[in-house]
Amino acid sequence: MDGTKDIVVFVSHKHGDHYNSAIFGLLEEYPHVRYVLSHEVPVKWFITQEAEKGRDVEPYLFKVRKKQDYEFILHNGKCLKVHTLKSTDLGVAYLLQYDGKTIYHAGDLNLWLWAEETAQANENMVKAFWSSMEELRGKQVDVAFVPLDPRQQGDAFAGLEAYLGVTESRKVFPMHCWGNYNIIREFLKAHPQKGKVVQVISQEGEQFLL
Ligand SMILES: [Zn+2]
Repeated sequence: MDGTKDIVVFVSHKHGDHYNSAIFGLLEEYPHVRYVLSHEVPVKWFITQEAEKGRDVEPYLFKVRKKQDYEFILHNGKCLKVHTLKSTDLGVAYLLQYDGKTIYHAGDLNLWLWAEETAQANENMVKAFWSSMEELRGKQVDVAFVPLDPRQQGDAFAGLEAYLGVTESRKVFPMHCWGNYNIIREFLKAHPQKGKVVQVISQEGEQFLL
C-alpha cells in the first residue's frame, strides 16, 4: 500500500450498482483520495457524520454536471482532464485524459431499448443515446467500460456495437452483465473481429494486466 498515491474515485450516479458508501473508507488510508461525483449523488449524511468526528470532508468531494469539462491537478503535479457526458439513465458518463491515456466509463449511458417499452419511448432513447455518442465520435480511447446487459435480450448488443462503431478503442471491458458473463462470448461470436478489443470476463474480482 502506498499512502501517498493519488486516488480519484468517480461516481456516475447514485444507483446501488454504481455507488457504495464504502468508497469513503479509502480516506482512512489514502490522504490524497478525492471523489468526483455526479450532482445527484447524496453525500450530506457522509459530510455530517464525518463532521461529528471532527473531520471536514467537503474538500475531498467534487460534484460534476453533464456536458462539462474539468481539470484536476493531482498531488503528483500531473493534470487529470475530465469530460462528462449526459447519461441516458441517471447522472453522467466520464471521459478522462491522464498521462497520455484516454479512459471512458459509461456509467449507465447505454442504448436502453426494451421490448416491452412503447415505440415512442424507444425512439426517444435512440435520440438521447446518439446525441451523447456523437461526442465520442472519432475518439481514440485506451480503456473503456461499457454496458452489455443481458436483460435487454435481443437489444443487448446495440449499445456496445454503437460505441465500438464511433470510437477507436484499444480495450473495452463490458459491464452491467449481472453475473452473466457468457453474453461477452456471445457478443464476440457475432463480432469476431473485435476479439482483441472486447475483453472476456469470467468472474467478479478478476484482474487484468494491460
Ligand atoms: Zn447501472
